[in-house]
Amino acid sequence: MDVVMHGASHQGLVRTGNEDAFVCGSQVFAVADGLGGHNAGEVASRLALGPLAALDGGINPGDDLAQVLAQAIRSGNDAVLADAQANPERHGMGTTVTAAALCDGAAHLAHVGDSRAYLLRPPDSLWQLTADHTQVAEQVRQGLLSNEEAAVHPERNVLLRVVGLDPEIDVDTPEPVALAPGDRLLLCSDGLNAVLNDEAIGVLLGGADDPEAVCDELIRATLAGGAPDNVTLVVVFVR
Ligand code: CA
Repeated sequence: MDVVMHGASHQGLVRTGNEDAFVCGSQVFAVADGLGGHNAGEVASRLALGPLAALDGGINPGDDLAQVLAQAIRSGNDAVLADAQANPERHGMGTTVTAAALCDGAAHLAHVGDSRAYLLRPPDSLWQLTADHTQVAEQVRQGLLSNEEAAVHPERNVLLRVVGLDPEIDVDTPEPVALAPGDRLLLCSDGLNAVLNDEAIGVLLGGADDPEAVCDELIRATLAGGAPDNVTLVVVFVR
């Protein structure tokens, strides 16, 4: 499977720092959206991605890769907790993590929080591969809120699961996705989907013919929409 990839991050137009982080390796990809203020979120997102970055290049086809990713997220969770314990000013920091590993023609995923993985399959099918771990997304799943209501809900950013706050974390491992030539995978922090709806994301993800140009276009559209948050993307094209 021939893949090309690109990752990018932008502070946005409102925030004074960038607490997002990403991994864009040859086989392993991830985004993390840190929270905590006073630069603690920035520490949390980078610490959480360390074990995932270390996996890149060493992925073994025989392994249960979603579980390998989940274990790396748990190691990142331990690292964030240990740092917060040693540095009281960072107590309470945390981060989302959405990770993918590509191997033998499939994407394997593991995920905590409200960053997202999307798959675009030509000509125009877009799937969100991850479930947002937010109170409002849970209410949408239960039929208590519509997607439209959730998109503007005042508590839409309240997370049900975060990396770095508790010794035990529940990591989602969605079913692996068999990839086909032409497929495009996107990992993003919520600074993207807070501004662009799925339709706009699908159009821009399917637009330009290289991943760097797609990242540029998605960030440009987010900035044009006011970019109230940090925005981070990893785009992978299957050739
Ligand atoms: Ca964010």
